[in-house]
Amino acid sequence: MRYIDKIYIDGRFVTPLGSQTFDLHNPVTEEKIGVVRLGNAEDAQAATAAAKRAFPGFSRTSKEERIDMLKRLNEAVSARIPELTEAMALEYGAPQTFTRFAIPHAASSFLNMADVLREYAFERQMGRAQVIMQPIGVTAAITPWNSNIGFISSKLATAIAAGTTIVIKPSEMSAIQTQVLVECLHESGLPKGVVNIVNGVGNVVGSELVRHPDIAKVTFTGSTAVGKDIMRTSAETLKRVTLELGGKGPNIILDDADLDVAIPGVLRMGFMNSGQACIAGTRILAPAHRLDDILARLKSAAAALKVGAPGDPETVIGPMVSQKQYDRVQSYIQLGIQEGAKLLTGGSGRPDGLDRGWFTKPTIFFNVRNDMHIAREEIFGPVLSVIAYRNEEEAVSIANDTAYGLQAYLHGSDTVRMRALAERLDSGRVVINGAPHEPLAPFGGFKQSGLGREYGVFGLEAFLEPKAVISSGAVEPG
Ligand code: NAD
Repeated sequence: MRYIDKIYIDGRFVTPLGSQTFDLHNPVTEEKIGVVRLGNAEDAQAATAAAKRAFPGFSRTSKEERIDMLKRLNEAVSARIPELTEAMALEYGAPQTFTRFAIPHAASSFLNMADVLREYAFERQMGRAQVIMQPIGVTAAITPWNSNIGFISSKLATAIAAGTTIVIKPSEMSAIQTQVLVECLHESGLPKGVVNIVNGVGNVVGSELVRHPDIAKVTFTGSTAVGKDIMRTSAETLKRVTLELGGKGPNIILDDADLDVAIPGVLRMGFMNSGQACIAGTRILAPAHRLDDILARLKSAAAALKVGAPGDPETVIGPMVSQKQYDRVQSYIQLGIQEGAKLLTGGSGRPDGLDRGWFTKPTIFFNVRNDMHIAREEIFGPVLSVIAYRNEEEAVSIANDTAYGLQAYLHGSDTVRMRALAERLDSGRVVINGAPHEPLAPFGGFKQSGLGREYGVFGLEAFLEPKAVISSGAVEPG
């Protein structure tokens, strides 16, 4: 049993003033594995005060000093990859197919930002004005449970690169992962108050940060509903907001796709992170004249995917994070059946042979219309919908007929055609033939998938305010 009773303020591990607790569970066994003591509004205020005190000094540090800090953060996180992986498996049930990428990616986000910072010009001339990019002020970061270490690392890396101090409120469900990560951050020896981390629930610690007049910016990753709430509350103090929200990505198989290559790719994008991924390609768009072949191949490929505990390296799909998430996914499977979609594979209940744990059958529906709930709403589990299209025009129209616009996928043979199609998709990212993540490119959503961008120069500039200093000409000698 783990007892996590410390938060991190002003460079020290302190006991929260809040006394409420939250139980942590292993989603593989459903057993209680820990208790976290939660911070309250006063803890959020103390963390904000520490970040505010640290800001004037930190915002004037040099590029070289901040690059050095980012390197130290990378070293500290890299040194504990095995422990971070174990924590993510224990508390979240993340399969190794995900953690093999996600944890090193979290560590590398510090070096990626160091590279961006090295090349970035904080001052530039525009006409008669000198434009200075100034650190935005104290930032609050609020993160979800589905890739806790990655989101904290990338938001913190950007704050450090920009010269802003930060208060982080991770998901209360990720306290074990957060604890190991905070130890890494502490070991990296940042100046005190630059990073502060307060465990707590959203409507207590999160909303206090969003209301607080000393917070200049909120960078939020989570659901669209909470993102809208944060935007509304932020309006009171005109905070800058970056919102990374939900998705319902189109996963488009083009008529010239080599299905031997495309089908495994389609399922990888659809079921990534056990389906608990904002960027999952959950709407499979298939050309009608190849539908039978595609369905047969999807069915047999899905049957071969191993569902199980993260200890098994063959596992592709782990459990849902919580009973609540399991119930939510099950209710969407029921809804799909009720609204007339046909089950190709999967369905209600646990997979055979798994009688405990929040495991869901990898489920694929066909005969899905794009106006059904299962095609419109983010399920956040391993549930995919196959939607047939007649021609390219119709594929683009179905792909864009959604409230979301985070990440789209194209699978085909003709890269020139796919490049042209990518321009027509209303999506923050378009991934062609399963290309790997690009950390220097902007990441974020069109429409209700969010506001603003993270990563690379776009991400850095979201932590900076431009200031124009205009002079009318040469200064007269006195
Ligand atoms: P959530 O919105 O319920 O919670 C996210 C965070 O916000 C948590 O830390 C929570 O405590 C906090 N929060 C809740 N209410 C709040 C409030 N009123 N004020 C301030 N903070 C509040 O999301 P979740 O269930 O933890 O995560 C799943 C969601 O996150 C999915 O919708 C998924 O698509 C989204 N997500 C988006 C991205 C992206 O980059 N676009 C990445 C991962 C997850």
